[in-house]
Order: sequence, then structure tokens, then C-alpha cells
Amino acid sequence: MSQVGLKALILKQYNLEEQNIKRFDINSVSFKITGLWRYHQFLPVDLEQAVTMGEGYTPLFKIDIAGSLVYVKQEQLFPSGSYKDRGATVLMSDVLKRGITKVVQDSSGNAGCAIAAYAANAGVKCDVYVPADTSEAKLTQIRAYGANLILVDGDREATATAALSAAENTYYASHCYNPLFLHGTKTFAYEVCEQLGWRAPDVVVLPAGNGTLLLGCYMGFKHLLESGVIEQMPHLIAVQAQNCAPLFKAWEQGLTEPVTVTANHTLAEGIAIANPVRGKEMLQAVKATNGFFVAVSEEEITAALKLCLSKGFYIEPTSSATIAGLIKAKQKLNAKTWVTLFSGHGLKSTEKVMSLLKK
Ligand SMILES: *Cc1c(COP(=O)(O)O)cnc(C)c1O
Repeated sequence: MSQVGLKALILKQYNLEEQNIKRFDINSVSFKITGLWRYHQFLPVDLEQAVTMGEGYTPLFKIDIAGSLVYVKQEQLFPSGSYKDRGATVLMSDVLKRGITKVVQDSSGNAGCAIAAYAANAGVKCDVYVPADTSEAKLTQIRAYGANLILVDGDREATATAALSAAENTYYASHCYNPLFLHGTKTFAYEVCEQLGWRAPDVVVLPAGNGTLLLGCYMGFKHLLESGVIEQMPHLIAVQAQNCAPLFKAWEQGLTEPVTVTANHTLAEGIAIANPVRGKEMLQAVKATNGFFVAVSEEEITAALKLCLSKGFYIEPTSSATIAGLIKAKQKLNAKTWVTLFSGHGLKSTEKVMSLLKK
């Protein structure tokens, strides 16, 4: 099968509308469960089948950023160090439910870590395809969980192609394609509303790489709105790095598909996605909420990182890109309640932080 054919097949197999999720009802939340599985009634997997490490319900509290208080959700505080665990816990629970014993993944970053961690926890075998030139530091966490690393010569695209081919015979636990992942990340929206007293914030500022959090959030807030739990849809503001901004550029030109770009190096490696497979959906989601895209420079990412570090928050540079985006968005939009997040832990990128400190 051609790669294009395979991509189409996978997107169809994983049809987002397929899951039958019931209306959100506050009385059906299992408040005794401290993590995100408190919302199991609205997830496509039963609690008894959950592959969980007690993740989620991360703190949401106010931090002074550039002169005003905003709510920052502490998403760096997950078992594998990033919010990707939201998607991994739900996706891997579904894998176990279906009796699948082996999965493939193709991320050298936080998604690879999260899937490898939950595969280990579930006792499921996991092959992770990565570009051969990926740094040792990034691969250590994935390998440490016992995942089988397959190094692919060539660029990120070659790696994706190799993983897609493997996915013809093995379950593809993809954070980009698999909607089960989005059912996990949608819990971010549930938690934010619960933590605000079952109210929606006015604005949510999110990173935009492959859109796993952005699309999950959109899904979650939409569910709450349609169920009558909240009265308004927050504006979703999506942040890209200027050095790799296929969606920001499309947005500025009023296009509905991502534009073709070459990925220039950026400190925010976690959102440096030149070819987001759900790019069209991401543009649609932002538009549907009357939000917008912003792009941030390397200088802005660095300044935001230093600001967070100076307040005692040890986060990775990709996370500070979102904070830089929030600072920028605040100059464009006047709103009351702002929510954003720290997406990944700083201990994941010691080398980068080290090189920044030396400058
Ligand atoms: C994955 C990731 C992002 C970007 O998320 P997408 O789902 O690709 O849009 C941002 N920050 C961190 C730390 C990540 O791991």
C-alpha cells in the first residue's frame, strides 16, 4: 500500500466520531479518584481496564506572568514528565482491552516516552522508530522503559514512513493519528473547568505541534458546552515557533490547510512539526473558538524560559514557547481568565538548559 493510502486508511480506522461518549454530567464524576480517571464515565475505556499510574488532575494555580496573574496548569508533573501521559493512559488501556500484545510508535520525544512508559506498565511490547541521529539523552528514557528502539537512517519523514509500514501488521499507537489519544488529552479541559468551579475560562493558550492537546482540549470543552456544563467556549490560542510555523503561516494567509515549510532549528523541538497530520482540524478548531495562532521567536522562547526558571519552575524550552505565546497573545486580546500550561519537565532537557546558562 502507498504511504498516502495507508495514512488515509489509518485516519478512517480511527474515525473520531466513532466513540460513543455519553453526555457530561457532574454527578457522574468519581471525585474519590484523585487523577484523570475520575472522568472514566466519559472515556471510551472502563475503569477496570485502566492502565494507570495515578496520573492527572494536575495543579492549576495563578502565576504572575508579565505583569498579570494567569492560571498555569502543571502538566510537567506527570509520571513520564509531560502531558502526553494523558493520551498514553487512555490509548494503552484500549490496547489492553483489545488484547493487543505489541504496538509501534514513532516519536523520539515525549510521546515516545509516554507510550513506552504505559506499555511497560501494561506489559505490552513496544517498538519505537526514531531517526538514527537522535541524541542519546533523548533515547535513554524510552530505552529505560524496556522499549525496543529501531534507528532509521534519514530524516523524521523516513522514520514516519518506516513506522507506518510496520503499522500494517502491528497496532499503531500513534499520538497523532489515534483518536484514543485525544480522548485522553480532552481530560485537560474537564480538569480546568472543574478546578475553576465548573466554569470555562475565557482563553486557553496551548502549544501547537501535532495538536494532540489542542484537539483534545477542543473536544473536551465542546463536550462540556454541548452537555450544558459550561456556558461559553473559551478562545483557543495556538502557539508555534517562528522557525517552524506551517499553521501560523496558513492562518495569517487565511488558508484552511497547513503551508509547506522547512523546519529550521528551534529550542522548542517538541512543537517543531513541519507536517502536522491533523493540521486542517487544528486550523478549524482554533477558528471555531474565535481564537488565533501566534508564532514566537527563539529570543522570546529563551526569555520566557528564564522568567519561569527565575520563579522556580523547571520546565523544558518547548514549554516556555507556550508561555512566550501567552505574553504575545495578551497584547492582542483583552480577556479576564487566562489558562495555560507547563507542558514538559525541565529534567528532560538538561543539555539545552545547560547551554542556555553558559550564554
Ligand atoms: C508534545 C509536546 C508539545 C506539543 O504538543 P502537540 O500535541 O504536538 O501539539 C508541547 N510541549 C511538550 C513538552 C510536548 O511534549
